[in-house]
Amino acid sequence: MQRYLWQQADGKRHVYDTARHRVQAGRPFTALCGETVTPQTERGDLTAGLWFDGECPVCTIALAKALGWPVREISDLAHRFDWSPALITRLAEVLHCSFGEVVELTGARMVDA
Ligand SMILES: [Zn+2]
Repeated sequence: MQRYLWQQADGKRHVYDTARHRVQAGRPFTALCGETVTPQTERGDLTAGLWFDGECPVCTIALAKALGWPVREISDLAHRFDWSPALITRLAEVLHCSFGEVVELTGARMVDA
């Protein structure tokens, strides 16, 4: 079994560590992004192939990092997503780096609210 697997839950596709969690309907798990989410059978979350929710950007980058991708490729991947300040803050926590470093990594353009 692969160490990290995707799982749709609570409106996004997240990644979880199979060494820490076993996914079951109605059972919360903490994804790589730090969010605790709960897959539900009624929404088709447990039916791979019927997943229409978008990838969680933070989980996507956390997975690339966990798989040992070079920074250059992680950065290219990160550029595909839109990053809100809240997501950047979360990614900085997950990657153990600063907000500014994540802004640089993601190429996020900060918009004044
Ligand atoms: Zn996530």
